[in-house]
Amino acid sequence: MTITWRFWGLVLKGLKNMRYHEPVFRPPSEAESFILQVTYGCTHNKCTFCAMYREKKFRVRPFEEVREDIQEAAGLVPHTRRVFLADGDAMVLKASKLLQILEALDQAFPALERVGIYADSKGILSKSDDELQSLRERKLSMVYLGLESGCDEVLQKLEKGATASEMTLAIHRVKKARIQTSVIALLGAGGRLLSQKHAKETARVVSEMSPDFFSALTLTLVPGTPLAAAVERGEFEPLSPGEALTELGQMLAQISPASSVTFRTNHASNYVPLRGRLPEDKEEILKTLQWAIENHALRPEWMRGL
Ligand code: SF4
Repeated sequence: MTITWRFWGLVLKGLKNMRYHEPVFRPPSEAESFILQVTYGCTHNKCTFCAMYREKKFRVRPFEEVREDIQEAAGLVPHTRRVFLADGDAMVLKASKLLQILEALDQAFPALERVGIYADSKGILSKSDDELQSLRERKLSMVYLGLESGCDEVLQKLEKGATASEMTLAIHRVKKARIQTSVIALLGAGGRLLSQKHAKETARVVSEMSPDFFSALTLTLVPGTPLAAAVERGEFEPLSPGEALTELGQMLAQISPASSVTFRTNHASNYVPLRGRLPEDKEEILKTLQWAIENHALRPEWMRGL
């Protein structure tokens, strides 16, 4: 029997030597990966909707510490094929430091196939084409970028700290290095006021980016965040579940990528899990979505997660 990281991920948090600094987040598609924290927290840590790393001060982990974690993990699951580098924007590390980590991973795990990472546009754009290419050659092969919205007005209100064109450029740079890209939008990010604009502009930007993967999460208000406070003051009107799905339908209807994109809403925050390729399966996805809206076939609130 092969024991995977889905199992070991739970066990490791209890091990003395693996210094996980909770909470730890990863994309749904990295469930089978060894999650390695190479940084703690997020350098930006200001997005109004996000509480993921609010309690953590950003810190770069010393390489020796990271290497000890790699060695411990290699002793437990030597056949590891996938690794995910956390926390929130680990790509912000200098290319030389990332290369050092990637080399240590490659030596420790002979079966290593791919390494994924969360990135923001600054972390990507601070690297040269040659550096991105070197990272790819050392098996960094999947970059996840939280676009949230293609609408700059929405991004400004969210205090995302990046514009849609900066993020588009960053994705194009990563694609040029043949690193796969996964772009994430946030349904409901513009509230009622900006919903249509958010749908339209996000569709435009995702089309321009044409990432390998595009997924949507649904805004969940987290108590204590600036956005939750704005709702209480009546300054931000959140969408109902039906409105969030209608927004998703508007977004999908307007997406027209230059190359085929794998689309999914498999995150726990979503009301309807969808999957397909854009543009090939667009009509089928929209039909399923419409059916779910009309029949109220939505994931109940208690089953949703962040
Ligand atoms: S959404 Fe991403 S960039 Fe913004 S604060 Fe949260 S982790 Fe940082």
